[in-house]
Amino acid sequence: MTRLNIKEGLDLFKTAPLGELQKEAQKVRNQKNPSDRVTFVLDSNPNYTNVCNIDCSFCAFYRHTGAKDAYTKTIEEVMSHMEKARRAGLKTVLLQGGVNDALKIDYHVLLVKTALERYPDLHPHFFSAVEIWNAARVSNITLKEALEKLWEAGLRTIPGGGAEILSEKIRLAISPKKMNPNGWMEVHHLAHKIGFKTTATMMYGHLEEPEDILEHLDCLRRHQDLIPGFTSFIPWSYKRHRTALRRTVKNWAGKDAYYRILAFSRIYLDNFDHIGASWFSEGKEIGMESLHYGADDFGGTIIEENVHRATEWICKADHNDMLHMIRTAGFNPAQRDSFYKVIRTYEGVDRVEVPIEGRVTEADNLPPLGILATCCKK
Ligand code: SF4
Repeated sequence: MTRLNIKEGLDLFKTAPLGELQKEAQKVRNQKNPSDRVTFVLDSNPNYTNVCNIDCSFCAFYRHTGAKDAYTKTIEEVMSHMEKARRAGLKTVLLQGGVNDALKIDYHVLLVKTALERYPDLHPHFFSAVEIWNAARVSNITLKEALEKLWEAGLRTIPGGGAEILSEKIRLAISPKKMNPNGWMEVHHLAHKIGFKTTATMMYGHLEEPEDILEHLDCLRRHQDLIPGFTSFIPWSYKRHRTALRRTVKNWAGKDAYYRILAFSRIYLDNFDHIGASWFSEGKEIGMESLHYGADDFGGTIIEENVHRATEWICKADHNDMLHMIRTAGFNPAQRDSFYKVIRTYEGVDRVEVPIEGRVTEADNLPPLGILATCCKK
């Protein structure tokens, strides 16, 4: 298929039967990644602070300064999460937090340096765009200077969270205090110029229209044409529980919306090497099925996670669960690093020995408030 312009893309996204999108997406996926391999990463996703002044209406994770359950961790406390990840046999730690004005860039730099000194085998995948933007702002330095400091400290990849929908109109409606879509792009653009690799994400299923989704994807594609610094595109659906936005958005977007977005993004983002499906954000059954809609990556084990958990969305998987899910979906699992380089394959390996700290038990899958979590059915 030749490259779709935004108008053609919108038309296809809105009108094509899901089965057609799926067929075309699988064709593109097989051209870009011509094997039945699906990659995943062994990772964890702890947080260093939940203090945040941005008040996104879709977020249940943040607390204002002074709230009784607000926290900001010391470097040593964050290192205890790194230690937990090491003991669990993980390879990457995706560390994020709220937009906390008390934390200047020196704190972030020290986190990276200390993590690398003490845990050289754990890849730091730290700080989303808005956290870096705010650290630069409260430190009175430019964004470029902040990114350069993080690069000098040894950071090489940055997670793509906080993009939501890259549309000014939607951003103003759901997160008016956050930097605008151009700000998110600017962080990634400068990061790519320095040499960082980053992911790109999209959170849909709230107030957006198909036009906004096209705007988001087109923005990513244009940027990737200029500097190919995005490793992967990962969409996920908005989870409404305990968020202010639930009063406006009554329903979860559902599986067909997910499959459509995944398949369409595989077609439209023709300059992205990887599209990530997620057992975690959409649930295991949908996650496995979604591997047939153009995705070639299955995300991470995310042994520790608090942002989705705050919305009562609880879903857990360990190393063996990842192998099991990918195989059940009809693919061959391969472990990757945060640059999407394959570091282990599993031909002839049925199960692996998982350290106790990295195992998931049935109890882990139970939601804390007795609310039925349908996400974790196998
Ligand atoms: S999504 Fe991030 S920036 Fe928005 S309120 Fe939550 S923690 Fe703050």
